[in-house]
Order: sequence, then C-alpha cells, then structure tokens
Amino acid sequence: MENSKKTMEKVVNLCKSRGFVFPGSEIYGGFANTWDYGPIGVELENNVKKAWWKRFVQESPNTYGVDASILMNPRVWEASGHVASFGDPKMDCKSCKQRFRADNLIEDHSKGSVCPDTMTNEEMEAYIAEHNVKCPRCGNFNWTPIRTFKLMFETSRGTIEGEKDVVYLRPETCQGEYVNFLNVQRTARAKLPFAIAQIGKSFRNEITPGNFLFRTIEFEQMELQMFCKDETAVDIYNGYKEKAWQFAKDVGLNEERLRFHDHDKLAHYAKCACDIQYNFPIGWQELNGVHHRGTWDCSRHQEFSGKSMIYTDPVTNEKILPTVIEYSIGVGRLTLALLCEAYDEEVLENGETRVVMHFHPAIAPYKVAILPLQKNLGNKAKEVFALLSKEFMCDYDEAGSIGKRYRRQDEIGTPFCVTIDFDTLENGTVTIRDRDSMEQIRIEIDKLVEYISSKIKF
Ligand code: ATP
Repeated sequence: MENSKKTMEKVVNLCKSRGFVFPGSEIYGGFANTWDYGPIGVELENNVKKAWWKRFVQESPNTYGVDASILMNPRVWEASGHVASFGDPKMDCKSCKQRFRADNLIEDHSKGSVCPDTMTNEEMEAYIAEHNVKCPRCGNFNWTPIRTFKLMFETSRGTIEGEKDVVYLRPETCQGEYVNFLNVQRTARAKLPFAIAQIGKSFRNEITPGNFLFRTIEFEQMELQMFCKDETAVDIYNGYKEKAWQFAKDVGLNEERLRFHDHDKLAHYAKCACDIQYNFPIGWQELNGVHHRGTWDCSRHQEFSGKSMIYTDPVTNEKILPTVIEYSIGVGRLTLALLCEAYDEEVLENGETRVVMHFHPAIAPYKVAILPLQKNLGNKAKEVFALLSKEFMCDYDEAGSIGKRYRRQDEIGTPFCVTIDFDTLENGTVTIRDRDSMEQIRIEIDKLVEYISSKIKF
C-alpha cells in the first residue's frame, strides 16, 4: 500500500475499533493528549518493550537495568536544570484561543526549510510577523507574544495542611540513572564504559496538538545512559546511532522511512546530538534521540548532592568524571510508527479488500488464533488453546464464518491462525495459515509449538 494512502485517521480508527488504543477517560468526554491501551494494544506495547530490553539490556553485556522512582528529590530537577529552564515557546491565537509552539509554527510554515532551534524568542516573533504566519486552526493573524510554558507537572507532598513541598512528576527518566550511577557501579562492579537502562513513565505538560500517540502528556521512555571516558565518547555515540537504526529496522520499520537528523542547536555541554526520524503519515518526525551529554550530568549531580561522582580506573588509577551518551526512544512513539508501518489494505483476487497489520511476529499482539471450523469441534480446539497458550499469547474465536474470523485476525496482525477441522479428530493434524501469504499448511499438533517458536524470534 502506498504510504500516501495510509492516513493517521485510518490508523486511529482501526486502533479504536479493534481494541488497540482508546481515548483516555472517554466516558467523560476524554482528556486531551491521553490515551489508554486496550487488550490488543497492551500486548503490542509490552512486546515493543520486551524487544527493546532484550536488545539493549539482555544482549548487551555492559548494560544494567534499573526501575527508579517517578517522584524524586526536588533538588534533582534543580541539578538537571529543569526547574530553571524546561519550557516551550508558546503563542496563543487571540481569535480562536488555540495554543501553539512558535518553533512548530515556523517549521510547518517553512515546510522544514527553516530550523527554529537556533532562534531566540524575539527572532521567532520577527519571523512569524515577517512571513505573516497565520493560525493553522482559524486562519487569523492575531498572536500573543511568545511566553515560555513550563513543561514540568507539579504536585505536592506533606501531611499537614499548609505545610506542603512542591515535588515534580519526572519529565524524563534518565535522572534515575544518574542518581544511581554510584550504586550500580559498586554493586555490579562495573567498569567504564557501562550503561544503565530503564523503561518508565515520564510526564510533560505538552502544549502542542498530540497527533494520537505521537505526543502525549504521559508517556513511557525506553532509554539508556552510557557512562564512559571522554576520549571514547564520540565512538560510543556513533555506535549507538547505528544500534538505534538497526533496532528500528529489526523491529519492523522500513529503512526507506527512516533518516538521521543531526541537531543544529546543541546544548552548551553537548558535543553532538542526532535524532532518527520516521516518515509518519504526518511527515518526518523524531522517533528517538542519541545525545552526547559531556560531563554535564555527573558534574551537576556531584555539585548539588555533594557526593563525588568520580570513577577510579582500577588499572591506571586515573580519576575520571564520566561523560554520558544517551539513547532514548518513546514507547508510544515507536508503537505509533509500528502501527503506521504495519497498516495495509490489500485488494484480493475476488476484488475484496482486506485490512492487514504486517507486524513483525515478535511484536504482534497475539501470536496465534485457534479457530474451530464448527462449534462442535470446540473441545478439541480448547485442548489446542490450552497447549499453545502456555507458550504464546493466543486468541480463541468460534464466532462467524472462517473467512470473517481470518479477517479479524488480519486486522490485529496475528501471524498464525490454527484451524481445527474433522481431520484433526481423526489424525491429530491442524491447518496453520500464514497472515501475510495467506497460505495454509497441515501440521501435527505436537509440532505446533516448535513451528511457531521458530517463526517469532526477535
Ligand atoms: P520532541 O522534540 O518530539 O518534543 P524531545 O527531543 O523533547 O522530543 P527527548 O526529551 O529527547 O525528546 O525524549 C526522548 C524520546 O522520548 C523522544 O525521541 C520521543 O520518542 C519520546 N518523547 C518525548 N516526548 C514525548 C511525548 N510528549 N510523547 C511521547 N513520546 C515522547
């Protein structure tokens, strides 16, 4: 299917109708930029996280996982610089009251030819005035000046009314790794270079329209921080760019829809930074980031906590303040890319169109559906379900014609359908149908686990 025909609307509609993702708090009219994963979506999301963890923790000898608290000592956010400066340049349209990010308005207006990353607020205002950039919603030119919008959600802690301290919902997970650098290094007896990895929730008071799962106010990040000596950092950075690309490809994204995008504007401490972008139905957008963060994180936490972050090389006795390379990708953003990539409308020989999600089998929500040809084959089919569900996430469906049941499984991307028929009772064989080729083969029930396992490896 041509990429141009895959619209976000089609993907969103399929997600809602088939139980991938529902609008957050829907019975109350929803809650902007929040989404709930349904029974199919939660399997997809979990498989995405499992694949990432396998690749970047399980198969990476010098990487250690953590699961840090969402609520952290507020000093962490002073050290990280978020309390002082974490914000977006926002403008409100005075006519329709819609709020926008000034940098996004410029990017969209210039169709990506102008990069606002290096502009000050005054320069962005001047550009918008000079080019008469109108409100994308109502078409008027009636802007407020740019103001910086705080992206951190605040909550409060305290048991006595009136005596409350502000605490923050973390806007990024990586601080959980920095504050545990010494703990992990000591308990794992880790030597530089080594990485600490985490999958967890982050919260940002985002003001831009969400585009479904692309930008949400609550989202999960899968990320790792590699601590290293400065002289090895650029090589490690380049290595993670490649690993991030390879992962995106292996998990199912077509390389034609991936590209590197080097940052023009670097944080004052950074030597280099790069995103991988994916060509979503809404255009090329950031999928993940790889950042060289210098010694900023370790030096700031050393300063604010008063604890030395110095690593002593066990061979040379050299004292090193580690440099950090970060690789970070959003679970929801990657899941959205995979949904868009997988979506397909195929015209069949009989002229009908089938909607099929071509997920990588390891990512597919269900691996196999068990379908008795007739209801009176249910007992045998349930036996097969009991056998296979010990190994894989399985669906069971006995409602409707077999053709309709295949279509339902195609729409949620189930790679294999096992059909129980009367021959099954006679000789212990079933048919197994491949989602993509729609071909069927006959196979003994005893061989199903081995057959399916061999096809769903990541
Ligand atoms: P953006 O420019 O899109 O706001 P960012 O550069 O601020 O993203 P990082 O802080 O580097 O993003 O976060 C790392 C990754 O986390 C991003 O590449 C993206 O995959 C994901 N991410 C960031 N913000 C959001 C969000 N609001 N909703 C969903 N995923 C997000």
